[in-house]
Amino acid sequence: MHPETKQTDYRGFEQGPIRPPSEANSLLIRVTRNCPWNRCRFCPVYKGRRFSLRPLSHVLEDIDRVHRYVTAIRQVVAGNGGLSPDDVRRVGESIVPSDEGAFHAALHWQAGGMQSIFIQDANSLVIKPDDLKTVLSKLRTCFPWVARITSYARSHTVARIADADLQAFAAAGLNRIHIGLETGSDEVLARMKKGITKAGHIKAGRKIKQAGMALSEYVMPGLGGRDLSRAHALETADCLNQIDPDFIRLRTLAIPNHTELYEDFAAGRFEKLTDREMAEEILLFLESLDGITSTVKSDHILNLFQEVDGRLPDDKDAMTSVIRAFLDLTPEDQVIYQVGRRLGLFARLADMTSPDRRARAEQACQLYGITPDNVDRTIDELMKRFI
Ligand code: SF4
Repeated sequence: MHPETKQTDYRGFEQGPIRPPSEANSLLIRVTRNCPWNRCRFCPVYKGRRFSLRPLSHVLEDIDRVHRYVTAIRQVVAGNGGLSPDDVRRVGESIVPSDEGAFHAALHWQAGGMQSIFIQDANSLVIKPDDLKTVLSKLRTCFPWVARITSYARSHTVARIADADLQAFAAAGLNRIHIGLETGSDEVLARMKKGITKAGHIKAGRKIKQAGMALSEYVMPGLGGRDLSRAHALETADCLNQIDPDFIRLRTLAIPNHTELYEDFAAGRFEKLTDREMAEEILLFLESLDGITSTVKSDHILNLFQEVDGRLPDDKDAMTSVIRAFLDLTPEDQVIYQVGRRLGLFARLADMTSPDRRARAEQACQLYGITPDNVDRTIDELMKRFI
């Protein structure tokens, strides 16, 4: 048994706290709890929580239980042509308290179309390769129709897995890996205690692609702070140019109070970019992506430019033109866009031409006294609520 696996009694279906935005409709299957690294200075997610591996038998039991309810729900849908609240109540009547999590997971998955499964938590590939193969095989047997099984993984872990094992994971149905690349700058990686180098990120990314799995790399605009912003943009683009991942996803830096980075920020050791500086950094980053065919997504709620979305190289001009258009706005209009975007009034720059939405953003600026001089401080407070 792995030293961190504690064989305790099974206590019911479990799900972890997070998954990528693109896995909102996925069935979440938890094979480990929390993060085995847990040292990144910007990351609030698992702080204060101990990492553990779940016993394989517990994971398989979770899958059996959720499978039982998925089967029952599918039978109802096949018979009635849909799932009414009465149907849900009837299926739910038979569940025991320890199965409530499995039942609700099955309901959520059914509502989302039952097309994908996400394996939790932060670094599922850290478990024994044979255990992961067993879990994947079980998922494929229970849910043969799913199009996608995906997981988060750390580059540090992937770089140490044998290519044959990665290929076996792919053959068993694991077809997409999400990596928190964050940055390609060795200086920023070291400062943030990411526990990996640019070379390690490149090695891991290439191994995943060579094994035949799709690769999604998360980049964190702003992570270099003011002094390393340029290095962050250029080195991250260079790193990704050497990997050519299937997806590049942007997730803007926020600094919640209970992170180590917040201590640096509060003490003046880390200077946070303004939204305008962030836009300039993202523009430099996108302009420096070269020779790759990745799809760029900006689908995180914290991002200023959700409409930066397209496939390289063809859509590069369209994506950069969004940011140029923002930078060309007057300072007053930039404030209105920043506030309207963060309040959910604007999804794209063109939404500023809607008189109603614009008026509501202007009212918010007046109500809270938001000006070009204080907009970034005020938005920081707003953003912390979404982390
Ligand atoms: S590896 Fe990921 S989950 Fe773990 S501390 Fe770093 S950012 Fe957070």
